Amino acid sequence: MLNQATIEIIKSTVPVLEVHGTAITKRFYEMLFTSHPELLNIFNHANQRQGKQSGALANAVYAAAANIDQLENILPVVKQIAHKHRALGIKPEHYPIVGENLLKAIKDVLGDAATDDIINAWADAYGVIADAFIGVEADMYAQTAAQPGGWDGFRKFVVTRKDQESSAISSFYLKPADGQAIAAFLPGQYITVRATVKGRTNTHLRHYSLSDAPNSDYYRITVKREAGNDAQPAGVVSNYLHDQVHEGDVLEISAPAGDFTLDPAVPSQAPVVLISGGVGLTPTISMLNTLVGKQPERPVTFIHAAIHSGFHALRDHVKDIAEQHPQVTSYVCYESPLAGDTCDHTGYIDLQWLQSVLPEETARTADFYFCGPTPFMKTVLQALKQNGVAADRIHYEFFGPAGSLEA
Ligand code: FAD
Repeated sequence: MLNQATIEIIKSTVPVLEVHGTAITKRFYEMLFTSHPELLNIFNHANQRQGKQSGALANAVYAAAANIDQLENILPVVKQIAHKHRALGIKPEHYPIVGENLLKAIKDVLGDAATDDIINAWADAYGVIADAFIGVEADMYAQTAAQPGGWDGFRKFVVTRKDQESSAISSFYLKPADGQAIAAFLPGQYITVRATVKGRTNTHLRHYSLSDAPNSDYYRITVKREAGNDAQPAGVVSNYLHDQVHEGDVLEISAPAGDFTLDPAVPSQAPVVLISGGVGLTPTISMLNTLVGKQPERPVTFIHAAIHSGFHALRDHVKDIAEQHPQVTSYVCYESPLAGDTCDHTGYIDLQWLQSVLPEETARTADFYFCGPTPFMKTVLQALKQNGVAADRIHYEFFGPAGSLEA
């Protein structure tokens, strides 16, 4: 429990965090990896280099500081981060290391402005925030390991099938090497691959949404190759999966996690609108496949945006589902269609087009789930809000550290 003086000091530093938060967390990661290089086995290096991770951590620290006397207000954010921590294998012993380096980074960036009182207040507050995370994560670890087919840490899975879904996207079907049961999951959740890539030090951990309906036999992930160009290097794990992982190979994965979910056990007649851009279709395909099997009474609108047909994964699958299930309507948007491509909309998705395909009744009553590149998600979110969709019916997933779609 923090005393009032500490709470006031923490709250008084919120404006400073708004200004210097990203500089502090950037410095924090530099210090952390210098003093504890073994943590490079857990954190995504590309996210650090691009500043995405520092931004996400700064937002989380900022939210915690602003709500320090009522942390329950940010419980959904804590839970979202805790899911990732559980999937990555973050343990209680990591928290003091993070705390020590965060305080050093605050001191380093703020200099004399970070008085002893401020540093001591932050040390106390960090203890409270860390305990909140450790508590939520302990429950998640216990639940994950205790559920039928569940496991702790990373488990070996055999790639039993690899399918090319588009020029840049492939699916991997994964069955447990031990032949035992696998944990159930909710559509929208992800597993985490721990890759050991030839020629590189450290292990590389990446999350991949499960792209098929839950079943007792296999997990499927569907991965886009992040090709390099003059401005940026090729992605480590996606290229490893595409080039070096073949049928019969073994991958280490942690158990399903994530709070971007559609639970088919919760009875509902409400329409569902699934909107995806590029490889962001993986969780929405899992939701689509689940809905037609488990909640066939719910109307589903499946909207997918791709650059053109060459990048359009699982096109025939969605077309077949829409043909076989009258409650499913599918729309395809191509940014720059190839000659001969057919689609329902050319260019980016915008409010006007969304309004043209979503009847007013659907916009009012449906649950919306979307995923895709950040600019795409910003546009979709803005369009849904402008269309009067209530906040509690809007759900989305970032394929990277969580950021803000509001700017
Ligand atoms: P990384 O090596 O992590 O690089 C990422 C990007 O950064 C690349 O484009 C690379 O070019 C660029 N980069 C690297 N270094 C630099 C640098 N120094 N400067 C500038 N740019 C740089 N992906 C899928 O394909 N399918 C999914 O279903 C999926 N689900 C996800 C679910 C969740 C919850 C999350 C968080 C992510 C998901 N992702 C998914 C994304 C996935 O986790 C990986 O981020 C993605 O595969 C890229 O990983 P990588 O190792 O290939 O690239």
